[in-house]
Amino acid sequence: MKINLKNRCLVTLVALAVLLWVPTGSLYAQQIRVITTIPDLADMTRQIGKDLVSVESLAQGVEFMHAVPIKPSFVPKLNRADLLLLIGLDLEISWLPALLEVANNPRILRGQPGYVDCSVRVNVIEVPALLDRSGGDIHPKGNPHYNLDPVNGKVMAETIAAALSRNFPQHQQVFEKNLKAYLAELDRWIPRWQEMAVPLKGVKIVPYHLEWSYFAKRYGLEQVGTVEVRPGIEPTPNHIVELVQKMKQEKAQLIIYGPQSDRFPRQLASETSAKALKLPDMVGGEPQADTYIKMIDYNIRTMVGAVKGS
Ligand SMILES: [Zn+2]
Repeated sequence: MKINLKNRCLVTLVALAVLLWVPTGSLYAQQIRVITTIPDLADMTRQIGKDLVSVESLAQGVEFMHAVPIKPSFVPKLNRADLLLLIGLDLEISWLPALLEVANNPRILRGQPGYVDCSVRVNVIEVPALLDRSGGDIHPKGNPHYNLDPVNGKVMAETIAAALSRNFPQHQQVFEKNLKAYLAELDRWIPRWQEMAVPLKGVKIVPYHLEWSYFAKRYGLEQVGTVEVRPGIEPTPNHIVELVQKMKQEKAQLIIYGPQSDRFPRQLASETSAKALKLPDMVGGEPQADTYIKMIDYNIRTMVGAVKGS
């Protein structure tokens, strides 16, 4: 076959492209690409998938997980993902569905095996009797902040391992072995945390956003109100006046906030005897809380320290 100069150039270019592409392709094709919505799920996926997975979280720990700022880089990440892990219960509803539409990756659309809703096996609390978004409530399917209770952490890890095995059965044994090791580690921590948290029993708290309910239930804290009027609704002056009264009556000890501004927590602290405490609500919310286990440990330790110091 006679190849003219133009075609020869083309052949060279294609060959070069193939040569350049193959090493990169083969390097990354080995790893399962996982995208998670929050860093807690990313940390657990790393513990279970180890070097079989490459994992990235779309949300950063310091952001408000209901309203993650969308970056253009999210689209190619979702487009290439083999698995998408999310918290579910509509936590990500204001930012994830639009991204999934643009990313155009049929593997990770709702209903597909690559779409993994980690709430499926969680015992959800604060489920409203009627599904109603009319008041602007951003917890229409119950409280989605189940990650703050480490017993739910075990359920999340199991769901992640099952999803990895279902999608990549050739590695099932590795995932199961790593899951077992991770659950054993959590099982060593959970009784320690239970003991550490004893001084929190009966402590009255006012979270900014209704996200400490699972934690409060686990360790016996009492929530006497929230800084927000309702989940997602910023306080009105009237609400603050009523809240101050309630906090004084109930002798609330802590105001807990995370990615929100400290303006209202400080105001409430100055008008009552409660302390304002900033705590991470997901991994990476504080530099010391860079794994799931460290985050739970940091939260309990810091809260106990604040209660004992008061
Ligand atoms: Zn929430």
